[in-house]
Amino acid sequence: MGKVIDQAFSKGDILEDLRLYPFNKLPAEDPVVIVHSSLKSIGYVIGGAETVVRALLEWVGGGGTLVFPAYSYSASDPEQWRYPPVAPHLVEKVRKNIPPFDPILSPIDTGAIPSAASRFPGALRSSHPNGSIIALGKNAKRIVSAQRLENSLLPDGPLGQVYELDGWVLSIGTDLSSNSSMHLAERWARKGEGLAHLGEFWKSRVPVDTPRGREWVLLEKEGGCSTGFIRIEPILRRRGVISYGRIGQSYCQFMPQRGLVDETIKILDEDPLALLCSDPDCPQCAPTWRKYGSGRQSDW
Ligand SMILES: [Zn+2]
Repeated sequence: MGKVIDQAFSKGDILEDLRLYPFNKLPAEDPVVIVHSSLKSIGYVIGGAETVVRALLEWVGGGGTLVFPAYSYSASDPEQWRYPPVAPHLVEKVRKNIPPFDPILSPIDTGAIPSAASRFPGALRSSHPNGSIIALGKNAKRIVSAQRLENSLLPDGPLGQVYELDGWVLSIGTDLSSNSSMHLAERWARKGEGLAHLGEFWKSRVPVDTPRGREWVLLEKEGGCSTGFIRIEPILRRRGVISYGRIGQSYCQFMPQRGLVDETIKILDEDPLALLCSDPDCPQCAPTWRKYGSGRQSDW
């Protein structure tokens, strides 16, 4: 016999969890929440991702706003792909044939919950070849229309708008390594100068379709490797930034985005290498460790 569904979560069950600590810290008035999520971490949800979005909408209420990353990882330069890499003789073919960004058609590679959210009435998707976001609710238009090609991590970009609005971050079964707001701290650290001196390794090219044809635009100082973000979780927990709770079977993190960004900036101002990963083959972190780490990588 195959696997038996021995626990089933309804919208009511999920909402009940969301009304408990720590999710009950959500401000009552016009809350804004960025949701990072793994649907399967919750267990069997009756109605799947759609049910989760309905529960989240009820939780934030009529004045609330939900924001979901809706990244399209394939809209990037195939020369930089690693999982898996593209054989050199195919790079040009892949590069030429990547479809143009379309807010309706472009894939959402961040999971079932953002994909379901994109189908809800009133859902807006920002225009960015690989870094778009979806928003639903009162402040959706403000957040989505803030998107430009180069400002994903600047104060006037979508995540910066969430910071302005004093929003929150909910990670459903995911951890800091997929918490996009951490990239704001990377960019805003060092008194607003960002970690520019490390940024020579943090460049990506994205396809932009213009009347003149396809252009590949180099974006600098965008988010770097995020695998190492989990290294500072114990510090953030000790400082009371991250709280933990359960939704269904999912282990969740909940935090004010400002607290997260501001504390991470403090950590980075003390140690600009605090968020680098330990993979000796990482094309971003490994050269940075070699150049600035003076052997420290082996410390952890
Ligand atoms: Zn790395």
